[in-house]
Amino acid sequence: MAQTLLWLIIGFVTLEFVVSSVLSWLNTKWMTHPVPPELEGLYDEEKYRQQQAYMRTNKRVSLIERCVSFALTLVILGCGLLGWLDNLCKSWTSVPVLQVVLFLLVYNLFNTVIALPFSYYSTFVIEERFGFNRTTHKTFWLDTLKSFLVSTVLSAVLISVVFWLYLTFDRQFWIWATLVVAVFIIFFSMFYSNLIVPLFNKQTPLPEGELRDAITAAVRRFGSKFKDIYIIDGSKHSSKANAYFTGFGPKKRIVLYDTLQEQMTNEEIVAVLAHEFGHYKHRDTFKNMFISIVMVAVNLFIFSLLVSNPDLPAALGGTAPSFILAMVAFSLLFSPIDLLLNPVGNAISRRAEYRADAYAAEHGHGETLISGLKKLASHALSNLTPHPLVVWFSYSHPTLAQRIRAIRSSNNKDND
Ligand SMILES: [Zn+2]
Repeated sequence: MAQTLLWLIIGFVTLEFVVSSVLSWLNTKWMTHPVPPELEGLYDEEKYRQQQAYMRTNKRVSLIERCVSFALTLVILGCGLLGWLDNLCKSWTSVPVLQVVLFLLVYNLFNTVIALPFSYYSTFVIEERFGFNRTTHKTFWLDTLKSFLVSTVLSAVLISVVFWLYLTFDRQFWIWATLVVAVFIIFFSMFYSNLIVPLFNKQTPLPEGELRDAITAAVRRFGSKFKDIYIIDGSKHSSKANAYFTGFGPKKRIVLYDTLQEQMTNEEIVAVLAHEFGHYKHRDTFKNMFISIVMVAVNLFIFSLLVSNPDLPAALGGTAPSFILAMVAFSLLFSPIDLLLNPVGNAISRRAEYRADAYAAEHGHGETLISGLKKLASHALSNLTPHPLVVWFSYSHPTLAQRIRAIRSSNNKDND
């Protein structure tokens, strides 16, 4: 049975590899497609050549990364290396929770080391060549270390607690574990700006001046009570720009990248914020949080039915019952469902984006939002002609051309 499970897992890993390779190939084939009429003139000839070169370089690197990670996964599964690691951790300590923590530490370290050459090359060769990179070597290494520590500590704490709940409540553990994860998700979406962001970036209140006045006036028009407007030093990492709302309740704040100010006029920044207000008014943050918690509950419930099955750890080369191996095997077995849910989640997200754009357009920011989005896309050398299937499968936002069309049609409706 364990052998069958292993073949099933290898089949799923291969399926994922094939799907992502086909999508990437489709996108490359679509590169020479004519630019949609809404976006004509966004790039001049020289810049369009640059954009195409940027895309081709990124495609090549991600193809190599995908192949390396696929090959490594096959070796790890084929040789039962995860089972070997589990036994090794068990020989280091007899405390079950510590064994799980050690396993996660080694597992995360391995993944970080494998990803490192690719993120280094992408930052200091590709992004550098196309003028996006503003990261120093010191920042890069410190950030890598910090994100390794943060992700290891958080996953170790969370999974140890879930493991402890399993030891205490047996099959019923999924109910308690869902509660714990829900609290964890709510806590981190509330305190993300206070706890995680400061590790990587500096946030300073937006100083008095025209931009602050324009935003304050807009906030009042939208009938909201946002007071906390921050500038984040995105320029420490990259020249690409962004803006977002974060937190909720007393912890909510507006965050603007300093690079946004370099690229956009004040009116365009207000229009981008009007879009963000659209999300806020439609309670998109809460909806997303709710969906993730439901997904966690479903996952944990199905896992609770399989957790004590000895075939799960055995499929990964385990020679004794192991919670963490069962968990890894389960997540691999569940991956085709994630693959199916991907387009569903993205379709929901794209609908929310259209709604947020419509909100900005209804408040008279349609055309300024369009010119702001165009600047962002042009600066970031965005792909103007993604393949429709790639958009359907993996785009969380509609394409720029689709957004412009939708904003203009909602503008026309208002004028009728
Ligand atoms: Zn949005």
